[in-house]
Amino acid sequence: MSKTIQSVRGMNDILPGESELWELFEETIRCWLKSYGYRPIRMPIVEPTSLFRRAIGEVTDIVEKEMYSFEDTLNGENLTLRPEGTAGCVRALIQHNLAAQRPQRLYYMGPMFRHERPQKGRYRQFNQVGVEAFGFPGPDIDAELILMGARLWDDLGLDGIRLEINSLGQSEERAQYRANLIAYFEKYRDALDEDARRRLYTNPLRILDSKNPDMQALIAEAPKLMAHLGAESMAHFEGVQQTLRDVGVPYTINPRLVRGLDYYNLTVFEWVTDRLGAQGTVCAGGRYDGLVEQLGGKPTPGCGYAMGVERLIALIRDMGGNPAPAGVDVYFVHQGEAASRLAPRVAERLRDQSIDVLFHCGGGSFKAQMKKADASGAHFAVIIGDDEAAAGEVTLKYLRETSADGETGRQQRVAVDRLGEEIMNALFEGEETDGSL
Ligand code: ATP
Ligand code: MG
Repeated sequence: MSKTIQSVRGMNDILPGESELWELFEETIRCWLKSYGYRPIRMPIVEPTSLFRRAIGEVTDIVEKEMYSFEDTLNGENLTLRPEGTAGCVRALIQHNLAAQRPQRLYYMGPMFRHERPQKGRYRQFNQVGVEAFGFPGPDIDAELILMGARLWDDLGLDGIRLEINSLGQSEERAQYRANLIAYFEKYRDALDEDARRRLYTNPLRILDSKNPDMQALIAEAPKLMAHLGAESMAHFEGVQQTLRDVGVPYTINPRLVRGLDYYNLTVFEWVTDRLGAQGTVCAGGRYDGLVEQLGGKPTPGCGYAMGVERLIALIRDMGGNPAPAGVDVYFVHQGEAASRLAPRVAERLRDQSIDVLFHCGGGSFKAQMKKADASGAHFAVIIGDDEAAAGEVTLKYLRETSADGETGRQQRVAVDRLGEEIMNALFEGEETDGSL
């Protein structure tokens, strides 16, 4: 027997049972974004490799070692499966001149690809919801983007997600800081681990982000970026904090929060939970005023973030939120030649009336079909045999109703013309008494 083919390591199927939760999540996301006036944009999953090299930066984890890049064998182009969405979103903004007339509030969701070591909360294909705002220079939009997060956790029924913020200042300020940081770490060269030594002259800020316990004391004593910020940068940062305080969104300032991508300036932030182990950041982002120009567009301020859908879904599950997938309204049972010709028409008519119908396919006895109806979780079985068909009627069986004496399975004959109305009435009554469908 030949070996079966498995999915690529770190790339997962999302099966029925779980996928309903994903859909519910996506619906919540769409309503939430609409309530803030953000509009959907859809970009390709594959982009020219040069886009990510220019946008994300050469000395970053993503570009150094995580990209799925390949040559298109037909024309020799260098292509990459997108590792994140901001670069493609900015490319589209420039290409279609979107920000020329007015500022833009945009969002997207979908799969991203990074060649990382798969573990809980870290996959090679994972999903992000990305939110980006273009054309707003002030701290008001930074604050809006952060406030949105707080509301979403609430909409999703999540708590215990804390907010960390920091300011990276402007590039001149960072350049000064960078020099001081290099000088500091040079003094302790022997205490640096391999990663830090490699990054010392290329991306020393990333050393602050090290997870190595042996490096923590050294990092704690390092010069602080905040001390290098000028008045304008400080005012911007203070503006963001003012709104957070006014609206009552708690935060902590984390001076070591530098983010893994090169394009950020001023505000950066992360939403973090302790409930997911090492992969606790569920949402991260910040301001990237230089990126549009860096990619060849007119200078346009930008600010945004991305959240990890797998991590949020894990959190929803961890907090007990996994709604059992709702059954359909009707399981449709039919047997006999005349009945089986009438049945599809009746089922289509029910669907015209917005009733969900699972139509029995594959034949079998009434008994076998009724077993499937019971197992389906449907509210009703609609049953047509040749008897019913001849009379222009169906049998409507209540599968979930329990009468006062504990009996289930009340059933009645209903004319085909009245069936939809009867079902709607019964569904509506059920909703009034037990509050759920
Ligand atoms: P990390 O430090 O966890 O690697 P990152 O800084 O690389 O995160 P971003 O590029 O900011 O992550 O992506 C935003 C969010 O996307 C993360 O906060 C996380 O929730 C999610 N994410 C990033 N990489 C992965 C991955 N490989 N698998 C699942 N989710 C991910
Ligand atoms: Mg990463």
